[in-house]
Amino acid sequence: HYMGLNEIREKFLEFFESKGHLRLPSFSLIPQGDKSLLLINSGMAPLKPYFTGEQEPPRRRVTTCQKCIRTGDIENVGKTARHGTFFEMLGNFSFGDYFKEEAITWSWEFLTKVMEIPEDRLYPSIYENDDEAFEIWNKKIGVPADRIFRFGKEDNFWEHGSGPCGPCSEIYFDRGEKYGCGKPGCTVGCDCDRYMEVWNNVFSQFNNDGHGNYTDLIQKNIDTGMGLERLAVVMQDVDSLFDVDTVKNITDHVSKISGKTYGESYKTDVSLRVITDHIRSTVMMICDGVIPSNEGRGYVLRRLLRRAARHGKLLGINEPFLYKVCDTVIHESGGAYPALIEKQEYIRKVIQVEEERFDATVDAGLSILHDMIEKAKNAGSKELPAADAFKLHDTYGFPIDLTIEILEEQGMSTDRDGFDALIQEQKERSREDRKRMGDVGWASEDLGLDKSLKTEFCGYTQLEAEGNVL
Ligand code: ATP
Ligand code: MG
Ligand code: MG
Ligand code: MG
Repeated sequence: HYMGLNEIREKFLEFFESKGHLRLPSFSLIPQGDKSLLLINSGMAPLKPYFTGEQEPPRRRVTTCQKCIRTGDIENVGKTARHGTFFEMLGNFSFGDYFKEEAITWSWEFLTKVMEIPEDRLYPSIYENDDEAFEIWNKKIGVPADRIFRFGKEDNFWEHGSGPCGPCSEIYFDRGEKYGCGKPGCTVGCDCDRYMEVWNNVFSQFNNDGHGNYTDLIQKNIDTGMGLERLAVVMQDVDSLFDVDTVKNITDHVSKISGKTYGESYKTDVSLRVITDHIRSTVMMICDGVIPSNEGRGYVLRRLLRRAARHGKLLGINEPFLYKVCDTVIHESGGAYPALIEKQEYIRKVIQVEEERFDATVDAGLSILHDMIEKAKNAGSKELPAADAFKLHDTYGFPIDLTIEILEEQGMSTDRDGFDALIQEQKERSREDRKRMGDVGWASEDLGLDKSLKTEFCGYTQLEAEGNVL
């Protein structure tokens, strides 16, 4: 039966509290003391020291709903029903306390008893040789053997870089034939949207030293992760995570501003979904202290904001608007994350400033890029010279990914290595400049945002210069 996203979150945390877990608030998206990760991408990431035994957890059993960013999924966003760059991950964790049997039993209990999902629409998967997990699913829970899927390392051995890892058991939900790709052999594990992975139970018992050498952890742990939005798709029986109550309200706001109706055309829908997703991730990142810049996390933020702004253009929105949509994100998630409300004015401002900056140069940049594309095409080339991509980046503030995305729409590419080399040269030049300028140089480096301001001013001069040439 129908359940709102905020209610589902609460039900999950309450359920695991009733199983002796300590509820902790979501950790920041910015990893603390973990240089291997740019942004938190799972519930277990901020808990690593408890898994390895380096630190003593506040309790052996913990449950959280963790904000996550996965930029690796950016290509999927708007195209699949189930991927966002931002999502919330529900999780229950055991640090050397309970293991496989309890984890599997409770995940089944939660889905079938608390959420009341029909058993015959759920399918577990296990790591190929994990007979222990098979026995639990088959004998204890009673899932018939032909409904349990065995997968290899790619899918059912969970590891992200170095650190705690292990075999896992996932639970898939069959959304029905209408979501299937229709290809022969479409079943659990198919990439389409019919069999949707909802929950991953990781039996975290090994440590990877980062070079593929596995040793037993001093304790056996449980690390589970379930996408809150995906569970909401199931509970609300909707098409995609963009139709989930809280997320839908954001899409509706974008629809209203753009005057475009959701569901009318594939192309428009993709843009509406991309904007909806990116505004969620960027609001959350800014709230956690990330600001737009040309490096690291700040660059991820900038890239997401500018990509959203450009999809706004595709919808015909020709002025800053993301800072307005920000209010709906905060309205929907402010209850679960009160910091959003406290920082609302600040978050809005950061987005507005970035939008205005990009807005000042984006039209000129787009028309120049189209000229560049024409020129390359006329010369019979499908590759934009690196110098052109660099100019767009340096003068018009186009993140390289944005340029590549626009090029791909035209069946073109660019010389990525050449581009990276130009960026490197530029870095070295500014390092030299700073050396010459002494302290003054460092001061402007610290302000971070100054760099893009300077870029903009170049933009105007450049613009005039271009105008004169034409
Ligand atoms: P998928 O195969 O569907 O991409 P995954 O195997 O990469 O998912 P995990 O790393 O196992 O995902 O993460 C645990 C859970 O988090 C998943 O079972 C899913 O419910 C959810 N999840 C993962 N990636 C996303 C995403 N990009 N957007 C929304 N939810 C996600
Ligand atoms: Mg994935
Ligand atoms: Mg998967
Ligand atoms: Mg998975």
